[in-house]
Amino acid sequence: MEEKHWQEIPDTSYPALRGQRKCDVAIVGGGLAGVTLAWMLTRQGMDVALVEAKTLGCGAASGCTGKVTAQLEEIYTRVLHAQGHEAAQLFSEMQRDAIKGVVALAKGAGIPTGLSVQTVRVSALAPDQVPGVEDLMQLEQRIGLPVAWETDHGDCPVPSYAAIRLERQALLEPLAYLHALAAQAAEGGCAIFTDSPVTELQPQQVITRSGSLRAQLIVVCTGMPLHLRRISLLSMLEQRTAMLAILEGTPTFTGSYLECRTQGVTMRPIPGGALLVKDLGITGSKCLRAQADTFTREWRHFFPDARLTGSWVRQDVYSRDGMPLVGPLEKRDNHLLIATGFSGWGLTGSYLAARLLCRNILGRSQPEGRFFLPHRHYARKFAVLLPGALREAGAMAAMALHRDMPQCTHMGCRMRYLPQAQRWECPCHGSAFSILGEVRASPAGKPARISPRQRRMR
Ligand SMILES: Cc1cc2nc3c(=O)[nH]c(=O)nc-3n(C[C@H](O)[C@H](O)[C@H](O)COP(=O)(O)OP(=O)(O)OC[C@H]3O[C@@H](n4cnc5c(N)ncnc54)[C@H](O)[C@@H]3O)c2cc1C
Repeated sequence: MEEKHWQEIPDTSYPALRGQRKCDVAIVGGGLAGVTLAWMLTRQGMDVALVEAKTLGCGAASGCTGKVTAQLEEIYTRVLHAQGHEAAQLFSEMQRDAIKGVVALAKGAGIPTGLSVQTVRVSALAPDQVPGVEDLMQLEQRIGLPVAWETDHGDCPVPSYAAIRLERQALLEPLAYLHALAAQAAEGGCAIFTDSPVTELQPQQVITRSGSLRAQLIVVCTGMPLHLRRISLLSMLEQRTAMLAILEGTPTFTGSYLECRTQGVTMRPIPGGALLVKDLGITGSKCLRAQADTFTREWRHFFPDARLTGSWVRQDVYSRDGMPLVGPLEKRDNHLLIATGFSGWGLTGSYLAARLLCRNILGRSQPEGRFFLPHRHYARKFAVLLPGALREAGAMAAMALHRDMPQCTHMGCRMRYLPQAQRWECPCHGSAFSILGEVRASPAGKPARISPRQRRMR
């Protein structure tokens, strides 16, 4: 089915990077993280340049459904399990601050961003999900999140067996928000370049096919970090694919609803209907096709009278311990920084990351930054990362057997085809390519070779 956007996409254009240029901070990647950081640093009077491979917001941001919330469901469980109570509590506080920050930015955007303050509810849509809602309520109260039982189940458009509510959250149109921030950053002096895929990162230099940028600091905001091949970092991250569906003719509702289940469905209202999302699983994994079919059955069951007018897949980068990865890539080198791993919650995550990076770059102290460091250490790190590392090794080994499948240009892994999205996906590190081999998602930087025989084999 054709991609149909539910939000206005502002008509903006920026030049490609040509020739040699200089700046204080070079940001690679014009998604939510890169643009929010560009906006903040420019406000601080820094000389900033942002380089985007295609168009601003064309990555995970183009799938983002605009829920601005501190209701991160199972992510707090992961943080608590990995890094303990202090980290989980701090993370929830920072998420709440980030909501205020995003709302303030959206209000000052100068163009309509569809902002509304709303309640987020986590609902049990089947009786066996009720214990999960009770556990979540307990956990979130322990870490200071002001959740409360929903007494009348709100205006949930589908039957709900129990629900908790979190008030004063927000909804907005992410692409309008992102483009407004970019326009303000550009007005403030940030040089923005699009259609400029970065092909190489050298110390203090960003290189594209038609130009280069010298910078004292480089911040990589490309989702899965560009050209990253270090196993210790790769095992901190995974890419997950989610499917979106635009439905017309659903009952009217307000706020957002999250199903209390791993890989559950989330929904938000849009004019004339609803926008539904389901996490299908790790990008490139075998179960994705089946999960996509389950999603179709689920929304038909929830909304038998609704009409599907658009459906597509996008992916986002998840961190295995739940905390985003923000800060210097290396322990002793403060010249190359990253921001990624927002685990499906990049609106608040990008704001939080931009604030941390901004303070780091301005040399201000920030004790909380240690929980987010890409090379962070904590007592349970080995136990937390082991299952992911084993799964990655297994996927690499399994793919080595599938020699007839196309190879990813990142680390040579064999790929799988996802017919619902008409794209090839790497099950090890999550790069994605079109049927013809054009890059759809990093960490791969170069197009893949797909032979006519492989195209037929799909
Ligand atoms: C289906 C879906 C729904 C979501 N809904 C929500 C929601 O309701 N609320 C919420 O808070 N979050 C949501 N998210 C998560 C949010 O969209 C992401 O966390 C966020 O967009 C990630 O931002 P980013 O800047 O890290 O990455 P991206 O938005 O992916 O940006 C990375 C950018 O880097 C560019 N890039 C890549 N390689 C290069 C290169 N070589 N050179 C230059 N540029 C490059 C890409 O083109 C891209 O523009 C959702 C995500 C998905 C997939």
